[in-house]
Amino acid sequence: MRFTVVTLFPELFEKFLYTGVIGKAVKNGGIEIKLVNLRDFSEDRGYKRVDDYVYGGGPGMLINPVVLAKSLKSVKKRGSRVVALTPKGRLLNRAIVDQYTECRDIILYCGRYEGYDERFLINHVDDRISIGDYVLTGGEIPAMLFIEAVGRKIKGVLGSTESASSESFEDYILEESHYTRPEKYSGDSVPPVLISGHHKKIKNWKRASSLRNTYIFRPELLKNLKLNKEELKELKQIYKERYCGHHKTD
Ligand code: SAM
Repeated sequence: MRFTVVTLFPELFEKFLYTGVIGKAVKNGGIEIKLVNLRDFSEDRGYKRVDDYVYGGGPGMLINPVVLAKSLKSVKKRGSRVVALTPKGRLLNRAIVDQYTECRDIILYCGRYEGYDERFLINHVDDRISIGDYVLTGGEIPAMLFIEAVGRKIKGVLGSTESASSESFEDYILEESHYTRPEKYSGDSVPPVLISGHHKKIKNWKRASSLRNTYIFRPELLKNLKLNKEELKELKQIYKERYCGHHKTD
Protein backbone atom coordinates (compact mmCIF):
# COMPACT_ATOMS: atom_id res chain seq x y z
CA MET A 1 0.00 0.00 0.00
CA ARG A 2 1.24 3.45 -0.83
CA PHE A 3 0.48 6.63 1.14
CA THR A 4 1.36 9.95 -0.47
CA VAL A 5 1.29 12.80 2.02
CA VAL A 6 0.95 16.32 0.67
CA THR A 7 2.06 18.76 3.36
CA LEU A 8 3.75 22.08 4.03
CA PHE A 9 5.87 20.40 6.71
CA PRO A 10 7.34 17.13 5.38
CA GLU A 11 10.07 17.33 8.03
CA LEU A 12 7.47 16.52 10.70
CA PHE A 13 7.31 12.97 9.28
CA GLU A 14 11.05 12.20 9.46
CA LYS A 15 11.04 10.31 12.77
CA PHE A 16 7.63 8.78 12.08
CA LEU A 17 8.87 7.12 8.88
CA TYR A 18 11.68 5.31 10.63
CA THR A 19 10.20 4.42 14.02
CA GLY A 20 8.40 1.40 15.45
CA VAL A 21 5.98 -0.82 13.56
CA ILE A 22 5.39 1.70 10.75
CA GLY A 23 9.16 2.25 10.40
CA LYS A 24 9.67 -1.49 10.05
CA ALA A 25 6.88 -1.77 7.46
CA VAL A 26 8.42 1.06 5.44
CA LYS A 27 11.83 -0.59 5.63
CA ASN A 28 10.61 -4.00 4.49
CA GLY A 29 8.38 -2.56 1.77
CA GLY A 30 5.05 -3.52 3.37
CA ILE A 31 4.01 0.08 3.05
CA GLU A 32 5.43 2.98 1.09
CA ILE A 33 5.13 6.56 2.31
CA LYS A 34 5.92 9.35 -0.13
CA LEU A 35 6.19 12.94 1.11
CA VAL A 36 5.32 15.83 -1.19
CA ASN A 37 5.96 19.45 -0.26
CA LEU A 38 2.97 21.57 -1.24
CA ARG A 39 5.19 24.64 -1.46
CA ASP A 40 6.90 23.12 -4.53
CA PHE A 41 3.68 23.84 -6.44
CA SER A 42 3.42 27.50 -5.47
CA GLU A 43 2.92 29.94 -8.33
CA ASP A 44 4.83 32.54 -6.34
CA ARG A 45 8.51 32.46 -7.23
CA GLY A 46 9.60 34.67 -4.34
CA TYR A 47 8.06 33.64 -1.03
CA LYS A 48 6.49 30.46 -2.43
CA ARG A 49 3.19 31.37 -0.84
CA VAL A 50 0.40 28.84 -1.00
CA ASP A 51 -2.26 30.70 0.99
CA ASP A 52 -4.58 33.61 0.34
CA TYR A 53 -7.31 35.67 1.98
CA VAL A 54 -10.76 34.28 2.66
CA TYR A 55 -13.58 35.74 0.53
CA GLY A 56 -16.28 37.28 2.64
CA GLY A 57 -13.86 38.21 5.38
CA GLY A 58 -13.05 36.34 8.55
CA PRO A 59 -9.81 35.46 10.25
CA GLY A 60 -6.92 33.46 8.78
CA MET A 61 -5.87 32.35 5.34
CA LEU A 62 -6.86 29.50 3.02
CA ILE A 63 -4.77 27.16 0.89
CA ASN A 64 -5.09 28.16 -2.74
CA PRO A 65 -7.03 25.70 -4.97
CA VAL A 66 -4.68 26.13 -7.95
CA VAL A 67 -1.67 25.03 -5.87
CA LEU A 68 -3.62 22.11 -4.43
CA ALA A 69 -4.81 20.94 -7.85
CA LYS A 70 -1.30 21.23 -9.33
CA SER A 71 0.14 19.11 -6.53
CA LEU A 72 -2.57 16.50 -7.01
CA LYS A 73 -1.94 16.25 -10.73
CA SER A 74 1.68 15.36 -10.00
CA VAL A 75 0.86 12.45 -7.68
CA LYS A 76 -2.53 11.09 -8.70
CA LYS A 77 -2.69 7.76 -10.49
CA ARG A 78 -5.56 5.65 -11.70
CA GLY A 79 -7.21 4.16 -8.61
CA SER A 80 -5.76 6.69 -6.15
CA ARG A 81 -8.08 7.62 -3.32
CA VAL A 82 -7.75 11.27 -2.33
CA VAL A 83 -8.39 12.12 1.31
CA ALA A 84 -8.39 15.56 2.92
CA LEU A 85 -7.77 15.67 6.65
CA THR A 86 -10.20 18.20 8.08
CA PRO A 87 -12.35 18.68 11.18
CA LYS A 88 -15.25 19.14 8.72
CA GLY A 89 -15.16 15.48 7.71
CA ARG A 90 -16.36 11.97 8.61
CA LEU A 91 -15.17 10.95 12.04
CA LEU A 92 -12.53 8.23 11.66
CA ASN A 93 -13.53 4.93 13.25
CA ARG A 94 -12.82 1.23 12.94
CA ALA A 95 -15.26 0.67 10.03
CA ILE A 96 -13.67 3.47 7.98
CA VAL A 97 -10.18 2.20 8.78
CA ASP A 98 -11.20 -1.27 7.57
CA GLN A 99 -12.52 0.15 4.28
CA TYR A 100 -9.20 1.88 3.63
CA THR A 101 -7.22 -1.32 4.08
CA GLU A 102 -8.70 -2.32 0.68
CA CYS A 103 -7.07 0.67 -1.07
CA ARG A 104 -3.68 0.40 -2.73
CA ASP A 105 -2.91 4.09 -3.21
CA ILE A 106 -4.05 6.77 -0.76
CA ILE A 107 -3.21 10.46 -1.12
CA LEU A 108 -3.50 12.41 2.14
CA TYR A 109 -3.85 16.19 2.17
CA CYS A 110 -2.69 17.98 5.32
CA GLY A 111 -4.34 21.36 5.73
CA ARG A 112 -2.90 24.41 7.52
CA TYR A 113 -4.26 27.90 8.29
CA GLU A 114 -8.08 27.88 7.92
CA GLY A 115 -7.95 24.85 5.62
CA TYR A 116 -8.64 24.36 1.89
CA ASP A 117 -10.59 26.28 -0.73
CA GLU A 118 -13.92 24.39 -0.96
CA ARG A 119 -13.63 23.98 -4.74
CA PHE A 120 -10.60 21.72 -4.34
CA LEU A 121 -12.54 19.55 -1.90
CA ILE A 122 -15.59 19.34 -4.16
CA ASN A 123 -13.76 18.67 -7.43
CA HIS A 124 -10.77 16.57 -6.42
CA VAL A 125 -11.22 14.96 -3.01
CA ASP A 126 -12.92 11.57 -2.54
CA ASP A 127 -13.25 11.70 1.23
CA ARG A 128 -12.87 14.16 4.11
CA ILE A 129 -11.68 12.64 7.35
CA SER A 130 -11.69 14.10 10.83
CA ILE A 131 -9.81 12.50 13.71
CA GLY A 132 -12.02 13.99 16.41
CA ASP A 133 -14.22 16.82 17.54
CA TYR A 134 -11.44 19.30 18.24
CA VAL A 135 -9.22 21.47 16.06
CA LEU A 136 -5.46 21.05 15.59
CA THR A 137 -3.15 23.51 13.84
CA GLY A 138 -2.38 21.20 10.93
CA GLY A 139 -3.26 17.94 9.20
CA GLU A 140 0.14 16.30 9.72
CA ILE A 141 -0.67 14.57 13.02
CA PRO A 142 -4.08 13.47 11.65
CA ALA A 143 -2.25 12.05 8.58
CA MET A 144 0.19 10.12 10.79
CA LEU A 145 -2.73 8.85 12.83
CA PHE A 146 -4.52 7.73 9.66
CA ILE A 147 -1.40 5.92 8.37
CA GLU A 148 -0.91 4.24 11.78
CA ALA A 149 -4.53 3.09 12.00
CA VAL A 150 -4.76 1.78 8.40
CA GLY A 151 -1.12 0.68 8.03
CA ARG A 152 -1.06 -1.58 11.09
CA LYS A 153 -4.06 -3.51 9.72
CA ILE A 154 -2.27 -4.52 6.56
CA LYS A 155 -1.26 -8.16 6.63
CA GLY A 156 2.33 -8.62 7.71
CA VAL A 157 2.77 -5.16 9.24
CA LEU A 158 2.13 -6.30 12.79
CA GLY A 159 4.18 -9.17 14.20
CA SER A 160 1.22 -11.57 14.23
CA THR A 161 -2.32 -11.18 12.93
CA GLU A 162 -3.42 -12.32 16.37
CA SER A 163 -2.28 -9.06 17.97
CA ALA A 164 -4.66 -6.99 15.82
CA SER A 165 -7.59 -9.36 15.98
CA SER A 166 -7.93 -9.28 19.76
CA GLU A 167 -7.75 -5.53 20.19
CA SER A 168 -10.33 -2.93 21.11
CA PHE A 169 -13.10 -2.40 18.54
CA GLU A 170 -12.34 -5.65 16.67
CA ASP A 171 -15.22 -7.16 18.60
CA TYR A 172 -17.04 -3.81 18.63
CA ILE A 173 -16.18 -3.35 22.30
CA LEU A 174 -13.06 -2.33 24.26
CA GLU A 175 -10.32 -4.80 25.00
CA GLU A 176 -9.89 -6.45 28.43
CA SER A 177 -7.48 -5.04 31.07
CA HIS A 178 -3.91 -6.37 31.00
CA TYR A 179 -1.33 -7.22 33.67
CA THR A 180 2.38 -8.06 33.62
CA ARG A 181 4.98 -8.78 36.32
CA PRO A 182 5.33 -8.19 39.24
CA GLU A 183 2.39 -10.23 40.47
CA LYS A 184 1.86 -7.80 43.36
CA TYR A 185 2.24 -4.10 42.73
CA SER A 186 1.28 -1.09 44.79
CA GLY A 187 -0.94 -3.23 47.02
CA ASP A 188 -2.85 -4.78 44.10
CA SER A 189 -2.50 -8.34 42.86
CA VAL A 190 -2.99 -9.73 39.38
CA PRO A 191 -6.50 -11.29 39.22
CA PRO A 192 -5.90 -14.89 40.41
CA VAL A 193 -7.79 -16.40 37.45
CA LEU A 194 -5.09 -15.12 35.06
CA ILE A 195 -2.45 -17.25 36.75
CA SER A 196 -4.73 -20.25 37.25
CA GLY A 197 -3.88 -21.82 33.88
CA HIS A 198 -7.60 -22.54 33.43
CA HIS A 199 -8.21 -21.55 29.80
CA LYS A 200 -11.99 -21.43 29.86
CA LYS A 201 -12.07 -19.35 33.04
CA ILE A 202 -9.43 -17.01 31.61
CA LYS A 203 -11.47 -16.61 28.43
CA ASN A 204 -14.60 -15.80 30.45
CA TRP A 205 -12.67 -13.36 32.63
CA LYS A 206 -11.36 -11.55 29.55
CA ARG A 207 -14.83 -11.19 28.07
CA ALA A 208 -16.20 -9.90 31.39
CA SER A 209 -13.28 -7.44 31.67
CA SER A 210 -13.96 -6.22 28.11
CA LEU A 211 -17.62 -5.64 28.92
CA ARG A 212 -16.67 -3.88 32.13
CA ASN A 213 -14.25 -1.51 30.38
CA THR A 214 -16.78 -0.79 27.65
CA TYR A 215 -19.60 -0.21 30.11
CA ILE A 216 -17.50 2.24 32.12
CA PHE A 217 -15.72 4.16 29.35
CA ARG A 218 -17.78 3.72 26.14
CA PRO A 219 -21.27 2.53 27.16
CA GLU A 220 -22.74 3.59 23.78
CA LEU A 221 -20.82 0.73 22.12
CA LEU A 222 -22.95 -1.80 24.01
CA LYS A 223 -26.18 -0.57 22.44
CA ASN A 224 -26.03 -2.76 19.34
CA LEU A 225 -24.31 -5.74 20.92
CA LYS A 226 -26.11 -9.09 21.31
CA LEU A 227 -25.27 -10.34 24.80
CA ASN A 228 -25.87 -13.81 26.20
CA LYS A 229 -27.39 -14.53 29.62
CA GLU A 230 -24.03 -14.67 31.41
CA GLU A 231 -22.90 -11.39 29.88
CA LEU A 232 -26.13 -9.64 30.84
CA LYS A 233 -25.63 -10.93 34.40
CA GLU A 234 -22.10 -9.53 34.35
CA LEU A 235 -23.34 -6.12 33.22
CA LYS A 236 -26.01 -6.10 35.91
CA GLN A 237 -23.27 -6.79 38.45
CA ILE A 238 -21.10 -3.94 37.14
CA TYR A 239 -24.13 -1.65 37.32
CA LYS A 240 -24.77 -2.65 40.94
CA GLU A 241 -21.13 -2.08 41.88
CA ARG A 242 -21.05 1.35 40.33
CA TYR A 243 -24.43 2.66 41.33
CA CYS A 244 -25.61 0.62 44.32
CA GLY A 245 -22.37 -0.01 46.24
CA HIS A 246 -22.57 -3.84 45.81
CA HIS A 247 -19.36 -5.77 45.22
CA LYS A 248 -18.93 -9.21 43.72
CA THR A 249 -17.53 -11.63 46.26
CA ASP A 250 -16.29 -14.48 43.99
N1 SAM B 1 -10.94 26.30 9.95
C1 SAM B 1 -10.99 24.89 10.12
C2 SAM B 1 -12.30 24.49 10.79
O1 SAM B 1 -12.74 25.19 11.70
O2 SAM B 1 -12.83 23.42 10.45
C3 SAM B 1 -9.80 24.39 10.94
C4 SAM B 1 -8.51 24.47 10.24
S1 SAM B 1 -7.21 23.79 11.17
C5 SAM B 1 -6.65 25.16 12.08
C6 SAM B 1 -5.93 23.52 9.98
C7 SAM B 1 -5.83 22.13 9.45
O3 SAM B 1 -5.55 21.21 10.49
C8 SAM B 1 -7.08 21.58 8.78
O4 SAM B 1 -7.21 22.02 7.45
C9 SAM B 1 -6.82 20.08 8.85
O5 SAM B 1 -6.00 19.61 7.82
C10 SAM B 1 -6.08 19.94 10.18
N2 SAM B 1 -6.98 19.51 11.27
C11 SAM B 1 -7.26 20.22 12.39
N3 SAM B 1 -8.09 19.55 13.18
C12 SAM B 1 -8.36 18.37 12.56
C13 SAM B 1 -9.17 17.25 12.89
N4 SAM B 1 -9.88 17.20 14.00
N5 SAM B 1 -9.20 16.21 12.04
C14 SAM B 1 -8.49 16.23 10.89
N6 SAM B 1 -7.70 17.29 10.53
C15 SAM B 1 -7.64 18.34 11.35
